[in-house]
Amino acid sequence: MAKIQLLDQKTIDNIAAGEVIERPASVVKELVENAVDAKANAVTVEIKDGGMTLIRVTDNGIGIPKDQVKTAFLRHATSKIRSVEDLLSVSSLGFRGEALSSISAVAQVELVTKTAESFSGVSYKIYGGEEEAFDDIGAPDGTTFLVKNLFYNTPARRKFLKSATTEAGYVEQMMVHIALSHPEISFKFIHNNKNKIYTSGNGKVKDIIYHIYGRDVAGALIPLEAQNEDVKVTGFVAKPYVSRGNRNYESYFINGRYIKSSIIYKAIEEGYRTFTMKHRYPFVCLDFKIDQELLDVNVHPTKMEIRFRNGREIYELVVDAVRAALLQKDLVQDVLRET
Ligand code: ADP
Ligand code: MG
Repeated sequence: MAKIQLLDQKTIDNIAAGEVIERPASVVKELVENAVDAKANAVTVEIKDGGMTLIRVTDNGIGIPKDQVKTAFLRHATSKIRSVEDLLSVSSLGFRGEALSSISAVAQVELVTKTAESFSGVSYKIYGGEEEAFDDIGAPDGTTFLVKNLFYNTPARRKFLKSATTEAGYVEQMMVHIALSHPEISFKFIHNNKNKIYTSGNGKVKDIIYHIYGRDVAGALIPLEAQNEDVKVTGFVAKPYVSRGNRNYESYFINGRYIKSSIIYKAIEEGYRTFTMKHRYPFVCLDFKIDQELLDVNVHPTKMEIRFRNGREIYELVVDAVRAALLQKDLVQDVLRET
């Protein structure tokens, strides 16, 4: 048997990167979440070839001070929490300090960043975890990440990517969720020089739904609002005639984070049960505000799955609110229109 040894940092980062960065959409998710956490109100995402050759994310947020740029790329380096106790109240989208180290381990990353306080910006290049350049540079306030040739040094990973069109689809889906959960931020998404998504940042979710899903869905929306002691839910459900054979029309956010939750899925099915046919899924976009202490977001590195301390309560709140919203409207006419 070979001798037992600690792996070197580069190898550790490369293995760990696989947990956070699976495909171009994961890179975009992490970089856009960082932009949101940096208080940007305009974020542009540009990709080429499904994000496999190029991903550029530009924000007008707070920037990274020059003396912290290199630290930001270290594993478990974060400005967002300091201790385990902070996890109970964390309100930023990120906090694990894993994204930048992971992305830079498996791609060629170029960063340009400038804070409002500094006179010049910084350009930093890090390829496969190795520093390539670190210079002063003129730049606007904010941050631009350029991520080139994802998985160029990990061919095994690259093999698992799908076609550029499919990967671009995943990125677009991600952008839709982020845009819906942050209507106060203006998002632009460009693929192969084509504008795919633009939101104005005017704070109106309905405008975003119109832009992304079209007039028919926007015209069928019923506003929903409900709360109990611990939870407040707002958003839209659509009249049942707008439905699909899959869940692509359902989006759920908790405290500004897109999540998947089987409890919420079940509650929606139950709420719509008497209004839709079996195996049809409605259009729903709901935003939950929940005391952070009633959640555990630290379940998975991508933080998509969430655990509730009070799942039953949330289930009942949603079922009742959906039923009430659907009953409010005169649905008989809609059913007639559909047939
Ligand atoms: P996390 O988001 O979990 O803190 P990341 O690896 O994503 O970890 O980022 C590391 C740190 O780099 C962040 O905590 C933040 O301080 C800084 N950072 C990353 N992206 C940006 C950005 N777009 N604007 C300002 N600061 C950023
Ligand atoms: Mg982050």
